[in-house]
Amino acid sequence: MVDSVPISDLYIYGVNWIGDAIVSLATLEGVRETFPDTRITVISSSRTLDVYSLSPSISSVLSRANIENKQFRRASGAATLCFPLSFRSAFDAWRLKLPHRVGYASECRSLFLDRTLDYKVWKDRHLHQASYYRELAESVLGPIPQRNPRLRIPEALIEGARQFLKNNRIDSALRIAINPGAFFGSAKMWPTRYYQSLIQRILKEIPDVSVILFSGEKDKSVTREISEAVNSPRVVSTDGQLPLKESIALLSQCHYLVSNDSGMMHIGAALSMKGIALFGPTDSVATGPMSDRTRILSHPVSCSPCLLRECPIDHRCMELLTPETVFPILREGILGIKTPSS
Ligand code: SF4
Repeated sequence: MVDSVPISDLYIYGVNWIGDAIVSLATLEGVRETFPDTRITVISSSRTLDVYSLSPSISSVLSRANIENKQFRRASGAATLCFPLSFRSAFDAWRLKLPHRVGYASECRSLFLDRTLDYKVWKDRHLHQASYYRELAESVLGPIPQRNPRLRIPEALIEGARQFLKNNRIDSALRIAINPGAFFGSAKMWPTRYYQSLIQRILKEIPDVSVILFSGEKDKSVTREISEAVNSPRVVSTDGQLPLKESIALLSQCHYLVSNDSGMMHIGAALSMKGIALFGPTDSVATGPMSDRTRILSHPVSCSPCLLRECPIDHRCMELLTPETVFPILREGILGIKTPSS
């Protein structure tokens, strides 16, 4: 509510990272549940457009690239949650004349916001990132429940994913997705040779299984290196060729996900997939996957979480988390998975 007026139009200035976008969906799920008639419109960057487009809680998604002259409703029942923390996002929301802009105060951006929350107060409590978005929404709407993010994949995309599997002769009962890259930087990446070793054990010890390697354009060299080293017809790679929506649909056709801390890890959680998330330099309390079906694995080291993109020392946080630790947990995790028909 803005000055006790119910919100009929809620605009969201969306975030730029895929993982953050997924986490922010938890808040939008809570808003949708509490206010079923509120129109939720997300103003999105091109990078996260596909994620927001697959959310069942959002009414419509507008690309920032196509709204230069758009007129936004500025009546008292309209408000904007500026989700990113950057100066630029607040300035842009102001420039676009989005109504009643609410965001965290940081980087001198309060000038462009109508109402602010204290970012330092939120940060000092060391909460999960989901609460950052929820508390922003609650400052406008009052209490809303915390829900897990959800994605809904249209049938046409699922059909495309099935076709991908058919084209690559993947007809095994069990499909394990592996996401060995991390857009953020190499510090988050489990060593490539560990992924190779894990996949070799999967193929050797788990019957009727295939492995699908996921990568984007930026990290496709990693999946290439792994698939060349493993060299098996039961391992296929998206090779950075699939757009994000198609990758999400293909992931939805897998039964288990092994991933670094990345956008794909959060997507797997939003699809309610079983899986393992490998954490090293980042903080799973703050940015862990929002699903009790994902098991978080890490090796405790005193320098973690460093939150660095590149490791300045010997990458011990990941090097000490070995395939010998990960494989038994994976094997136990996939026991009892019911494999849906392809
Ligand atoms: S500094 Fe420590 S926590 Fe950070 S990447 Fe290196 S080993 Fe991992």
